[in-house]
Amino acid sequence: MPASPRLAPHGVSHQEVLDQMRELRADDARWKEGKTWSLVYHAGDDIRRLLADAYTEFMSENGLSPLAFPSLARFESEVMATGAELFHGDTAAGTLTSGGTESILMAVKTARDFAREERGIMAPEMVLPASVHPAFQKAAHYFGVKPVNVPLGPDFRADVAATRAALTANTVLVVGSAPAYPHGLVDPIVELAALAREHGVLFHVDACLGGFLLPFARKLGHDVPEFDFAVPGVTSLSADLHKYGYAAKGASLVLYRTPELRRYQFFTYADWCGGIYASPSMAGTRPGGAIAAAWAVLKYLGEEGYLRLAGTVLDTARALREGVTAIPGLKLVGEPRLSVFAFASDTLDVYAMEARGWKLDRQMGPPALHLMVTPAHEKVVEPFLADLRECSASLERGEPAPEGSAAMYGMLGAIPDRREAADFIRQFMDSIYG
Ligand SMILES: *Cc1c(COP(=O)(O)O)cnc(C)c1O
Repeated sequence: MPASPRLAPHGVSHQEVLDQMRELRADDARWKEGKTWSLVYHAGDDIRRLLADAYTEFMSENGLSPLAFPSLARFESEVMATGAELFHGDTAAGTLTSGGTESILMAVKTARDFAREERGIMAPEMVLPASVHPAFQKAAHYFGVKPVNVPLGPDFRADVAATRAALTANTVLVVGSAPAYPHGLVDPIVELAALAREHGVLFHVDACLGGFLLPFARKLGHDVPEFDFAVPGVTSLSADLHKYGYAAKGASLVLYRTPELRRYQFFTYADWCGGIYASPSMAGTRPGGAIAAAWAVLKYLGEEGYLRLAGTVLDTARALREGVTAIPGLKLVGEPRLSVFAFASDTLDVYAMEARGWKLDRQMGPPALHLMVTPAHEKVVEPFLADLRECSASLERGEPAPEGSAAMYGMLGAIPDRREAADFIRQFMDSIYG
């Protein structure tokens, strides 16, 4: 029986509920088969089972009250201590959040409030290289911080000179990514942090993507630039546990160089008739399951487990990059060396490359296709490259491309007025959310 969208007068059995849900997921992205190149970080069924057990064990508990649930407080502080150690933050303090976006929102709010209190800045601005995650634009929008957007350098990394030129007396925060999502490139963190420091402003490293990969890549002997609190001038850092930390969704880490800085993140209200209210981040109720699962996977894998998974991911990504660049007409964007990369073409319409059942994200500036590599992709390197070769050969023969979202991307890119493009996307969202 198809599921009805209405609240039914009578409930149905446990089994029937689950049957309906399984039916409804038939068209979902097939990430377990490695067909999806974004959104899901799958590191094996054993880890998935552990996360499910840890999550359900604590799914009723609420991280809003560390006093009621000392277990969750313990998990959170241990996860944070692990992060602080990985990122060389001897004095670092932070909180867990629901994801990279919340971590970034909090870092921006903290910078705004710090600058207001310590420097009297009432019209705050932050300098954003073009490749930073849109969560920074969201934070600007939510918290009334003016985004000063700076184009990338010719190597597709943040441009230090352009960043310097964008600083004003109202700058409260400069941002760099390690790495940025679009091209998988690590920004010149040392130079950017020195610049911020010289101007007396805070500097955030967005290591949402790379936080739980880079330290292990370095241990494995990969050439990983400095990106964390070991760099003078880095004042905060975000790292997602639910990406290469392989935690269940809903877990990220935001860290500050000192507990004094973190204090600007907290929200308190002492005058409520309901009692004293204190919350560390955006969320009120904080799902215990996500906190517990993050702790569980760190324990389960240990350093050895993360090194093994990082090795698999980096080797797989290298094999994919070599395979892609061996296809005539395709080239990488910049010089990616980690787990994420984009490829473009001067001769082919990359938006038209819909290689059989593979889900690749499309990017703009330059038009490119994007791969985020996880352990689930180790087994699909050859089949994927074979399909990609076939697809590009077919385009070269001038055969028509299959219909897909390619047309929409082409059109969106062609709209000269960006406000019109935003309106179009909002209409699209109306239709998706019903
Ligand atoms: C994923 C990502 C984010 C945002 O994280 P969410 O968990 O999706 O909110 C921010 N920055 C980078 C570099 C990312 O890859």
